[in-house]
Amino acid sequence: MEYQAKELFAKHEVPVLPGSVVETAEDARAVAAEIGGQVVVKAQVKTGGRGKAGGVKLAETPDEATEKAGAILGMDIKGHTVHRVLVTQASDIDQEYYVSFLLDRANRTYLAMASVEGGMEIEQLAVERPDALARIPVDAIAGVDAAKAAEIADAAGFTGDVRDQVIVVLQKLWRVFTSEDATLVEVNPLVKTPDGKVVALDGKVSLDENAAFRHPEHAEFEDKAAADPLEARAKEKDLNYVKLSGEVGIIGNGAGLVMSTLDVVAYAGEEFGGVKPANFLDIGGGASAEVMANGLEIILSDDEVKAVFVNVFGGITACDAVANGIVHAFGLLEGRGDQVTKPLVVRLDGNNAVEGRRILSEFAATAPAGLIEQVDTMDGAARRAAELAAAK
Ligand code: GDP
Ligand code: MN
Repeated sequence: MEYQAKELFAKHEVPVLPGSVVETAEDARAVAAEIGGQVVVKAQVKTGGRGKAGGVKLAETPDEATEKAGAILGMDIKGHTVHRVLVTQASDIDQEYYVSFLLDRANRTYLAMASVEGGMEIEQLAVERPDALARIPVDAIAGVDAAKAAEIADAAGFTGDVRDQVIVVLQKLWRVFTSEDATLVEVNPLVKTPDGKVVALDGKVSLDENAAFRHPEHAEFEDKAAADPLEARAKEKDLNYVKLSGEVGIIGNGAGLVMSTLDVVAYAGEEFGGVKPANFLDIGGGASAEVMANGLEIILSDDEVKAVFVNVFGGITACDAVANGIVHAFGLLEGRGDQVTKPLVVRLDGNNAVEGRRILSEFAATAPAGLIEQVDTMDGAARRAAELAAAK
């Protein structure tokens, strides 16, 4: 969110205006009074175009800031409910500019984009005035020094006293981009004030989750209220889980296998009135009984799930170990008071499949009839899981 992006900007000395984020209209009054003079009240949601949607309002007095905050809090902007507003010092604007750094996947490089025609949505600018948007590749190793920043500023057409300030700001934004492990740092608008100062009036930063281990301090940026409760629980247990909307719970080993399992289940489900996969869950290569139990627990507590498809290809972890894992998982779940009642379709193949299937058949014979079924092929198992889910 903008206020978080601005915290990161401030940390790396990118010029921003003072402000605080609040959750109530009364708190907005206090912040406005402390700042003094004109303020801007801005909806904090993870979407752009807040200005157009009425989520950015100027206020002349603390009373007016209270009123504007009251109007913006609770507002829905493109499906995002506003729970917080940023109350920040207002600025007069002489010029609006655009600058960003991002990961350019298609060209396997980083990219700087800059324009002296800010204020418009960047997607619109890129389409309508492509020549006004400079795009300069940035080498990951060389980065952005003063010379590179000057190249970017000149390509965009920054002139006069603004040019030198923009060159400094670009280097600082590059430091945000690299030292915070971001995949996007965007300022729209970067403005020139009437007294000639360059300031970031808005900010957007996407952080690379793969680098989260290097940034324990980033954990506080996570919007827990917006996260799916099942996904939040899965995350606590270090599971690679994504909630989807469907009836067949999916557990597999390996992201590629799980993704193709989603496709196969969705395809098979068409025959049964559009049954769909309920989630993505990759328990990885060396999955222990505990990981299997945690995965089953999350999936079974999804009310939408009517049947579960466990699709495992034994590799380094052989099928007999996986089968024992499933058996132990049932025991663990029972110990936690979670009786498994939704039917499980298991497909085991690969390393030691015969022994794995034997272990599981033996266990299935002791379980309630129909609770655990084995199907040898992926397509067949997907079809059976969809059929069971549809029958529920
Ligand atoms: P977005 O619409 O979600 O990108 O939100 P922004 O933070 O970019 O704000 C939208 C627009 O509000 C900006 O492009 C500015 O034109 C205007 N705005 C934001 N802050 C100020 C301010 O301090 N003073 C003035 N005059 N306008 C502002
Ligand atoms: Mn903006």
